[in-house]
Amino acid sequence: MIIDCHVHLLPKRARQDRTSFVQSDRAFGSLYSSQKAKLASESEIIEYMDRSEIEKAVVFGFPWEDHRRIAENNDEIWDFHHRYPDRIIPFAVLSTAGDEQNAREAERTVRGGFAGLGELAVYDRGWSASDFEALSPCLKIAESAGVPVMIHVNEPVGHHYPGKIPVDFHALVGIIEAHPGLDFILAHFGGGVFVYGLMPEVAAVLSRTYLDTAASPFLYDSRIFEIASKILGPDKIVFGSDFPLLPLSRYLKELEKSGIQGSLQKAILGDNFQSILARPREK
Ligand SMILES: [Zn+2]
Repeated sequence: MIIDCHVHLLPKRARQDRTSFVQSDRAFGSLYSSQKAKLASESEIIEYMDRSEIEKAVVFGFPWEDHRRIAENNDEIWDFHHRYPDRIIPFAVLSTAGDEQNAREAERTVRGGFAGLGELAVYDRGWSASDFEALSPCLKIAESAGVPVMIHVNEPVGHHYPGKIPVDFHALVGIIEAHPGLDFILAHFGGGVFVYGLMPEVAAVLSRTYLDTAASPFLYDSRIFEIASKILGPDKIVFGSDFPLLPLSRYLKELEKSGIQGSLQKAILGDNFQSILARPREK
């Protein structure tokens, strides 16, 4: 079974006319002011899944600053899941503004049946130690409910692109360490932080940390799949496309180039994520 764990669905109003959203939300403006930055509709997501033989997809919105937009986006994700309960796995986004409203939204969505939180990101400024600390109450809610949290992490070096932010790796590993009962999914191969999984004490901290493959064809040589699997373990890499940015076919090409096939390919494309979902969650 193929599971795509990284698909974006933005609110209908933003898809119809993104102008006011681009003007009012700095992070959204930095990523989506160009019309080339695609926004997919529900039917385009289903069409993509059917065409690519993807059975299930994790779908989530954008980390707006405005809490009302966060709720609106999460509600649309929930409706989408409701229309396709066997195919759409709903994750809930949270505001970049932080504060106790985020904890209320995490509580509302996770208790309401969302399968996880994410993709959490702070595209307007980057992840600092205080941003990670501010997330802690929300992470505790996910931890006690037994659902995973996906965090946007990008590489600290290399070429610049919209949405690329500074990430405090020390603070990132610290927040993972502070929540040992939580499954973390670090998007975009965790910005390469997994290399430190070669250090025994960091490997212990990352024992419940997964890496998604989102956008990797734009970022890395295809060897990353094999190297990351060797460092963190073959059960730790989960396919995520970042659709509509890239479709599954691009990742299949990379997997082919890397020589990954058979059970490891199957694990990356769905089995690994399936085992995260299979963990018992608190009712
Ligand atoms: Zn991301």
